[in-house]
Amino acid sequence: MIEVNPLSSQQLMELEERYGAHNYHPLPVVLTKGQGVHVWDVEGKKYLDFLSAYSAVNQGHCHPRIIRALKEQADQLTLTSRAFFNDQLGPYESFITRLFGYDKVLPMNTGVEAVETAIKLTRKWAYEVKGVPVNEAIIVFASRNFHGRTLGAISASTDPTATGGFGPYMPGYFVLPYNDLEAMADALEDPRIAGVILEPIQGEAGVVVPDEDYLPQVAQMCRDRNVLFVADEVQTGIARTGKLLCCHHHGIRPDILILGKALSGGVLPVSAVLADDRIMMQIKPGQHGSTFGGNPLACAVAVEALKVVEDEDLADNAAVMGRLFRERMNALAQQSPLIRLVRGKGLLNAVVINDDPASKTAWQICLRMAERGLLAKPTQGNIIRFAPPLIITDDQMDACCTIIEKTIMQFESSTGN
Ligand code: PLP
Repeated sequence: MIEVNPLSSQQLMELEERYGAHNYHPLPVVLTKGQGVHVWDVEGKKYLDFLSAYSAVNQGHCHPRIIRALKEQADQLTLTSRAFFNDQLGPYESFITRLFGYDKVLPMNTGVEAVETAIKLTRKWAYEVKGVPVNEAIIVFASRNFHGRTLGAISASTDPTATGGFGPYMPGYFVLPYNDLEAMADALEDPRIAGVILEPIQGEAGVVVPDEDYLPQVAQMCRDRNVLFVADEVQTGIARTGKLLCCHHHGIRPDILILGKALSGGVLPVSAVLADDRIMMQIKPGQHGSTFGGNPLACAVAVEALKVVEDEDLADNAAVMGRLFRERMNALAQQSPLIRLVRGKGLLNAVVINDDPASKTAWQICLRMAERGLLAKPTQGNIIRFAPPLIITDDQMDACCTIIEKTIMQFESSTGN
């Protein structure tokens, strides 16, 4: 039995509404406990978590090994700043660079900080190595991207909700359509291009999977034109898509790799930028950093979180469970006109609801799934992303698919769709 919180869900939601900024619109569920693929609300109702904190909890909620590492390190040393060395950072750096195959890592905290770091690194390399005239470097992004919420990231965004009212924006960006090789080839003709920053699958855009040859071709074009290929794997990385990195599906190695979210198993914000010396060594002492980046607590947690991914074969499980999920959802799509499309890779999947993004259909479906014990959230209005922890079992996946099937069929009959 879990302890019952003295405040009800309603009261807790009212507190957030009254005292918190209104920069989110959560589903009306107030969670108090998580274990594995499950979370519980304050009234004790149990749910399957099919969002995994936007793919940060790949290893499952409160993974015992990760929590043990957190507690042991918390008793020992949590933060030194980088004014001094600490005994966790070096071993972490050696471990993560070997795991992903890069010379160096630059540790940060949130995903967007790692994106900012990659932008700065790309510019620095362009000036110091490629020889782009000072302040003329251009970075290419794809439309409908999501790289986070700082001005550096939203300056590349094509989403008016993310950008509206926050200008002026960062110069030196060029945004072109995703999955468009011709547009990329044209753009890369400009000698001032420093790098191309892409998500291997666009998660926030609604799990948009590009054509098979898109990423390898872009990587090749970048190589041919002395442009850095930068992969933002904050959401797709750490086994989410059925391989350690989504880029591994295509046998490509980005010049700069951006990781976040599941690097800590969702325990605390840990992000990282990986690159080889020819790029990373362009940044000198004092030119970039963060008080918390590389702190001993984060390092201890990240090493354990990555070891769990390896030891529990989470990439393979994501591949197998993902196939199962898409099979069931594709079968459901045959029966229900409410489903327009099912897409994804590994356990990063989306079901596109056959309705206008402005309609509340996907939101209503998510509310009904929550009633039946499954948590997921719409993105872009009419797309429901399904991204459970990668430790999910056959039986749990079966239970989840059954909930989705029942909800969709019942929704259809109740609305006469
Ligand atoms: N990059 C990608 C691809 C993301 O999906 C996200 C978050 O969803 C970010 C960057 C930003 O990460 P954070 O919210 O930790 O700053």
